Amino acid sequence: MPKAFEGSGIVEGTRELAALLLQANYAMVLTGAGMDTESNIPDFRGKNGLWKNYDPRVVADISTFQQNYKLFHRFFMDQFGKMKGVKPHPGHYALAEFERRGLIKGIATQNISGLHKRAGSKNIYELHGSTNEFFCNNCGREATEEDMTEMKPCRHCGEYAVRPDVVLFGEVLPEETWKTAVNEIKKCDLLLVIGTSLEVSPVNQLPYLAKGKKVLLNNENISAGYRFDLVILGKAGEILSQLAAIIASTGVK
Ligand code: NAD
Repeated sequence: MPKAFEGSGIVEGTRELAALLLQANYAMVLTGAGMDTESNIPDFRGKNGLWKNYDPRVVADISTFQQNYKLFHRFFMDQFGKMKGVKPHPGHYALAEFERRGLIKGIATQNISGLHKRAGSKNIYELHGSTNEFFCNNCGREATEEDMTEMKPCRHCGEYAVRPDVVLFGEVLPEETWKTAVNEIKKCDLLLVIGTSLEVSPVNQLPYLAKGKKVLLNNENISAGYRFDLVILGKAGEILSQLAAIIASTGVK
């Protein structure tokens, strides 16, 4: 097990991470809900996670959508409501800047919030979809946010089956996005895993595919079994801001 840097050791751990990032030729990032909590979107399993109110594995499952649309709708609107009006935090901007400077190649994310995109990141693999688009699960045609929020029937086929374009439990991931993310992660020589419990399959298999160095940046230590080379325990936004400052201080363009 690598040493986990935490508390007053975070700065030292972040310096080690800066060195790894500057040496890497092909660095990739994998993010989860913990990346967004400092933007006030609750995660699932963290201390203030949604798990406290619901079991997302039940309410965000395709069978609940099909058998109890009202319950699915209530859960989604609750979660969606928490994503309204939120903004990227300095950690999202730091990752976008790292990509502009060629220090990272892209981000595979489990998040459906769209915050990486809004911060300016370009190569983003949204493995669980996003809440920016809606469609009818019955006829497959497009729907609007208003159809969803007002629980309207589909304007094409009349069914109550409007949903966000996100992957529910029990569904497969978008094939092309998944394949590309797998290839990118197989190729990378540094994988930075940020803010995820690595409990959700198949995304939790991705760190096993990375053949180079692996770094975990999370506020709890979930590294068992993954053979991380470096573990930094703390808040993603704060650590990424520190990382950006350390890299800037080296004068590397
Ligand atoms: P998770 O809730 O299972 O785990 C989040 C992890 O991040 C936990 O280990 C937690 O301790 C850690 N964490 C919380 N805040 C942090 C911070 N500020 N800095 C560092 N670490 C922090 O999330 P998951 O592994 O992404 O899996 C949950 C599933 O829920 C995913 O499929 C995702 O699509 C969905 N989800 C997405 C969002 C979002 O888009 N923001 C929010 C909730 C759930």
